[in-house]
Amino acid sequence: MASADVVTMDKIVALCKRRGFVFPASEIYGGIANTYDYGHYGVLLKNNVKAEWWRAMLQDRDDVVALDSAIIQHPRVWESSGHLAGFSDPLVQCLGECKKRWRLDHLQEAAVERGEDPSLVRCPQCGGELSEPRDFNLMFKTQIGTVADTGSTVYLRPETAQGIFVDFKQVLAVSRKKPPFGIAQIGKSFRNEITPGNFIFRTLEFEQMEMEFFVPPAESQTWHEHWMKARFDWYTDLGVREDHLRLRPHEQDELSHYSSGTSDVEYLFPIGWSELEGIAHRGDYDLSAHQQGSGEKLEYFDPQTRERYLPHVIEPAAGCDRATLAFLVDAYDEEELEGGDVRTVLRLHPRLAPVKVAVLPLVKKDGQPELAREIRDSLRRVGQTEYDEGGSVGKRYRRQDEVGTPWCVTVDHQTLEDRTVTVRDRDTLEQERVAIDDLPALIAGRLAQPWRSPKA
Ligand code: ATP
Repeated sequence: MASADVVTMDKIVALCKRRGFVFPASEIYGGIANTYDYGHYGVLLKNNVKAEWWRAMLQDRDDVVALDSAIIQHPRVWESSGHLAGFSDPLVQCLGECKKRWRLDHLQEAAVERGEDPSLVRCPQCGGELSEPRDFNLMFKTQIGTVADTGSTVYLRPETAQGIFVDFKQVLAVSRKKPPFGIAQIGKSFRNEITPGNFIFRTLEFEQMEMEFFVPPAESQTWHEHWMKARFDWYTDLGVREDHLRLRPHEQDELSHYSSGTSDVEYLFPIGWSELEGIAHRGDYDLSAHQQGSGEKLEYFDPQTRERYLPHVIEPAAGCDRATLAFLVDAYDEEELEGGDVRTVLRLHPRLAPVKVAVLPLVKKDGQPELAREIRDSLRRVGQTEYDEGGSVGKRYRRQDEVGTPWCVTVDHQTLEDRTVTVRDRDTLEQERVAIDDLPALIAGRLAQPWRSPKA
């Protein structure tokens, strides 16, 4: 069982706003629901999440190539993919007082969990009766050009995957790869969600990290298992506690229109177990649909076996914002200090931490600031650094703890005499004395080491 945790969603939202990780968009106009902006530390953290995903897909393997396809594709892409007809959720509206809209499937799942009859659900807010469900398409529509005729209607992509399928032939021709191989992409997707919420867990625009792995049909099961394990391990290697993570196979009635088998990686958020990523066996659904829709042959011809076939696809599809939220939640900790003070600390994996090292002069005189800046410059190549001379050193440590900086380097009187500094560890609070010249190698070495959450 997972241990009791001090973290709540409210604390995460408050910390993100206070330290400028993530905050509501358009706030001076009153904000726009479920839309957020990422500030300095948020951008650094999310960039690190994306860099770790690219590292796992590209740098650590030879069988995946990168792609960045357009957000606005030919509208027929969504016709062939099934999104125009089938990418919808069952929407019901309260006919009672509150008139709120709900996703019927969510209400029914909750009823089943409470042991109630799902066919008798009523409005959770006011108890009112609910309307008949109607399918609500989640794609945002817009137009190209100035005239709103049907020929100019286009859609903001609801997933990055289709750009990959549509480019399959082009990538196959130039990448010198053959199945099994994958095409990976990170980019924004847009969904007009009926019930967005829970901070950046479900928003209208979000970033996806998706990879389509094309395999000979006979190998698809083996590769599905490979990717389920690989994706689960990605989160634990980045420090997520194993008892807060699980792989859950979809029930038959949960499967998407394209999938013959999906397992979700789920994280135990303060709101309960929720999906971080789906690993789907899509069969040849997409290539076959686009082959039919476009009239282009999308088969692979194997010159050795002289076989011609449509590859099957295994798809790990992750949400970058959701992963970022999970890393934040998993890292958040509070520690009571002597005197009753509480230290808030983000125990992030050092490779995910927005800032790797902060350099702090103990006092703002005697040449300490100059030397501290020099040290900071020597560490720039190792990772993101910060220089801070404002306030007591205790306050400065706390500021770094709150944004998850793993190491603080402090310049003091002794530094000027023997060119050594103290290195303070965010998690153990231990301080060690290190020669300035050894610092870059020391920090680089620690960044390369495996890391486990001290909360585990
Ligand atoms: P959900 O059931 O939560 O709506 P989904 O199963 O429809 O998600 P997929 O289509 O499999 O999601 O998309 C892959 C990933 O993209 C999800 O696992 C999630 O991490 C992310 N994602 C999907 N929709 C959103 C959203 N509205 N906001 C943030 N992330 C999202």
